[in-house]
Amino acid sequence: MHRFYVPTQQFFDNQAWLSGSQHRQIRNVLRLRIGDLIALFDGSGREFIARIQKIEKDRVLVEILESRIPNTEPSIRLTLGLSLLKGERMDIALQKCTEIGVSEFLIVQAQRSVRRISEDKQNTKLERWRAIVREAAEQSGRTRVPSVEGPFSFENAIIRVKNQGKRFIAWEQEKEVTLRAAVQNIEKVNEVAFFTGPEGSFTVEEIDIAKKHGATTVSLGPRILRAETAAIVGSALIIYNLVGM
Ligand code: SAH
Repeated sequence: MHRFYVPTQQFFDNQAWLSGSQHRQIRNVLRLRIGDLIALFDGSGREFIARIQKIEKDRVLVEILESRIPNTEPSIRLTLGLSLLKGERMDIALQKCTEIGVSEFLIVQAQRSVRRISEDKQNTKLERWRAIVREAAEQSGRTRVPSVEGPFSFENAIIRVKNQGKRFIAWEQEKEVTLRAAVQNIEKVNEVAFFTGPEGSFTVEEIDIAKKHGATTVSLGPRILRAETAAIVGSALIIYNLVGM
């Protein structure tokens, strides 16, 4: 069943209006009809089965038939500090890591990020990244849409997660501590932050900042992964080793 994220404010009397890209998706792409069923979620953890009641030129009215609480959210909160990457790598990392179960993305303007985002473009970019994450959450059956914030300098990003149970940073020059070993050694935590570098990797200064703020450098194995692969694989390994997938 097709799923759509609809914020709570859009619900009224067991009904909701869907507009914008969701209206286009329903009407023009999926070509759904009155009476067809779709699933909605509002970010609270609940999911609703709804029936299409009215299809207008710019909006669709649906009626809620039933609600349920699916068990699709991981029981840990993983924050991914994702360095700004070039082109579609960013989109791929955001999409796949949402499917895997990341709860929060902090976009990091790392010192060696090839890509820079000028201030006037930040809002447009954030909107685009949030749309990618929302669609991935819809498609993968999640009941919460991960947040996307930033861009932050590396230091500001690591300060933001200073209260989280554990912080890891993927560094290809770490030869001793694997991510797996590091994750298996920690006691029960509810919140983990994980940072991956840009195409040109982290600078030694950033690694020092990470250590100063209590992060552990970890290896993802003897092969060098592309930046987006490192984000995807690392996120999966953390969730798999801590709570299973
Ligand atoms: N240009 C660098 C590699 C950068 S890979 C080089 O050729 O050496 C991009 C990012 O992915 C790195 O900053 C790191 O965070 C992560 N990464 C890739 N492979 C890794 C590995 N084997 N262990 C730990 N981190 C890795």
